[in-house]
Amino acid sequence: MNFSIEQIRDFCAAKADLKTPETEVRSILFDSRKLSAVKGTLFIALRGSRRNGHKYIKPLLEKGVRNFLVEHIPEHLQGRANFLVVPDTLVAFQRMATQIRMQRSAKIIAVTGSNGKTIVKEWLAQVLSKHVRISKTPKSYNSQIGVPLSVSNLSENAAYGIYEAGISEPDQVEKLAQILQADIGIFTNIGSAHQEYFSNRQQKIREKLRLFENCKLLVYCADHDQVAEEIATYPFKHQPDLWSWSVKGQHAHVQYHLDGNQVELNHKGATHRFALNFADDASTENALQVFTCMLALGYVPKEIIPEMTRLHSREMRLEMKKGHGNILLVNDAYTNDLESLKIALEFFTQQAGDRKKILVLSEIEQSGLSPDQLDKELERLLKGHPLDAIYLIGPALRGLVEKDKRIVAHLNTTAQFVQKIPATVFRGSALLLKGSRTHAFERIDALLAEKSHETILEINLANMVHNLNYFRKKLKPGVKLMVMVKASGYGAGSVELARMLEYHKVDYLSVAYADEGVELRKAGIELPIMVLNPEMAALDSFFDYRLEPEVYSFRMLNALLERLKASGEERLNIHLKLETGMHRLGFEHNELDVLIKLLKENEGLRIRSVFSHLAVADEPSEKAFTLKQIKRFEEMAEVLRANLPYGFDRHILNSPGISQYPQAQFEMVRLGIGLHGVSALTSEVPFLKPLGTLKATVSQIRQLNKGDSVGYGRAYVAEGNETIATISIGYADGFRRSLGDGVGQVWINDAFYPVIGRVCMDMCMIKVQEGKVQEGDAVEVFGQNQSIYQLAEQMQTIPYEVLTSVSARVKRVYVDQ
Ligand SMILES: *Cc1c(COP(=O)(O)O)cnc(C)c1O
Repeated sequence: MNFSIEQIRDFCAAKADLKTPETEVRSILFDSRKLSAVKGTLFIALRGSRRNGHKYIKPLLEKGVRNFLVEHIPEHLQGRANFLVVPDTLVAFQRMATQIRMQRSAKIIAVTGSNGKTIVKEWLAQVLSKHVRISKTPKSYNSQIGVPLSVSNLSENAAYGIYEAGISEPDQVEKLAQILQADIGIFTNIGSAHQEYFSNRQQKIREKLRLFENCKLLVYCADHDQVAEEIATYPFKHQPDLWSWSVKGQHAHVQYHLDGNQVELNHKGATHRFALNFADDASTENALQVFTCMLALGYVPKEIIPEMTRLHSREMRLEMKKGHGNILLVNDAYTNDLESLKIALEFFTQQAGDRKKILVLSEIEQSGLSPDQLDKELERLLKGHPLDAIYLIGPALRGLVEKDKRIVAHLNTTAQFVQKIPATVFRGSALLLKGSRTHAFERIDALLAEKSHETILEINLANMVHNLNYFRKKLKPGVKLMVMVKASGYGAGSVELARMLEYHKVDYLSVAYADEGVELRKAGIELPIMVLNPEMAALDSFFDYRLEPEVYSFRMLNALLERLKASGEERLNIHLKLETGMHRLGFEHNELDVLIKLLKENEGLRIRSVFSHLAVADEPSEKAFTLKQIKRFEEMAEVLRANLPYGFDRHILNSPGISQYPQAQFEMVRLGIGLHGVSALTSEVPFLKPLGTLKATVSQIRQLNKGDSVGYGRAYVAEGNETIATISIGYADGFRRSLGDGVGQVWINDAFYPVIGRVCMDMCMIKVQEGKVQEGDAVEVFGQNQSIYQLAEQMQTIPYEVLTSVSARVKRVYVDQ
């Protein structure tokens, strides 16, 4: 963006106190941690329920930020920067976006619906940008802040702006509709998923249609009966041209005929055919939304088809994984626009820790900027991030080479990069691959990434943050949050979770063993860490790595005292475990007197917190027992408090406890399984998102005749002609042997298939439906479609064990969306 501060003042109808009225505003900042370029940044101080942006004004001013949109000017800062003062910063910001939108000549295409929004947006951008300049929302930015933010960045030169608009609450529609003023609408489809604010599907559809009240064109699939019906009867303010389409011969504007991945249509008397790179229903539907929208915009099939055949249904999101030579590889190589580069850089610098940070960047696409402007923007963006080396790929980036000393090489093609740069130079580094699809960075990824045996555990860090915030909202002001990352973060990877948790400012981490704590420290984690099972053999590491042991016995306490004296250190922080009903570890009530005496004589052992653990927090029928535990805990903690000369925190709630016993939050709570989207309360399940997806691959498809037997022990015998598939997961991956013989099932494309015969060490066989499953298809063992709860039931265990039994050889891949 590029506006003077005075223009912004007028957009927001703000009162202004301007120190330097000539300032140009080039970017907007909400999260002070994400400050990249100081010059030209406007910080908007939002007031949330837990955080108040006004607190960050002073530190940002000290870092050089000079423009602020605020509700009041903090004391003593008057006159030191440009301040725009408004009654409500969020409203003012949305107003500003509306004004900017009105100044732009671009037509806005808004995509809404339950599924496929992001893909439709990305694919449409890809196809349309072959013809005109476009601008779009990065990734799946679709919130109250995301949409206005990307509208503010809508370029002057763009012919179209393509936006995704997700609506989760009815009162958001009005604002989004006003900001977007969409000219063209695409309605993808409507799911049946439970939604907090909508009573039924009809209401969900109608709410979303309000976005399109002033549209001139509306694209949708007539095969979704209810969507078609609602659109037909909706009282639009101005009736849009309806561009409906069908593959089932429904009454519609455009008819497509499908045969596998072949598409045929008649357009103005001529027949056109083309092949897609996929045949599954969801991807095909997304592609046809794009095709129909292009027709609606006035393009003819001949102009659209070449790019349609280049669409790929590969997931387009950022991935983080391990590479050869101890590389941390972050791959975000599907689209490459300025905004997604910025997001990737933020994620990358946050996860890279102390490693050398290297960026491999290809040409930017779809920026809507002139080459000169684009160079300037890129230069500014790169300067704002702490990178150690930059590799540029693509002729269009040549202009940048002189501008930044960290650029170590510029190559024209990805092939040249692969040939000329030896992989050894990346050893031990963190590497961000940020390339557009056309530059095929998957070649670099294939070279550097560790092989995955085609079986991976995908961890969605954005879902982790969602779950974290869900539980955070339950905490009273001032209550601290400890997050349990024991057992490799419940199987999801302790370092990666810890980095994200540190960034999101939790107060404490907890691990099971000292080793796990040492690993976190070595990765640069600074948060205090409690260790649940301090082994006698590992006592030194508590001093060397600032770890804080749980102390549950006199034996432990004495050993620590001895070690403390020998270490020459003055102090060691510890956490006292009290026994209140679990009968596992902890001091009993009758031991408190001796304990207090010992602690008073040895103040070097400093109690940071006193805690206990609930045995049945997840069982509502056992409420009386839990309340008794809480009461006993409170009494015991009180004895300690009355007798020790200093204060400490108290905590007893685990995840189910946080949800059900808000009165027992004390000074801290301990979140574990809830972070992973698992809850014992069925009413809570819809509000949490699963963190992990365990994926395997179909290795082979085979036809059986009646009487053919399958696998070891010939445990399965075909009853007729059957199709089976061998998939790449076995008991050595954590897919239990007991799941054989029809007990377990997996999800492929859009259906469940049972395991047949015995599970082998590295693979197993499933019975499939002929033609519905292909070799190479992804298999979901648990995730979005087969929940952890379902699999736990098949395994006759609990979700905790499902999560932690995915074996170490299954590669963890992190995604941030
Ligand atoms: C594992 C653990 C927790 C977390 O329990 P969840 O049920 O996963 O929330 C809390 N406190 C202690 C002492 C633990 O060992």
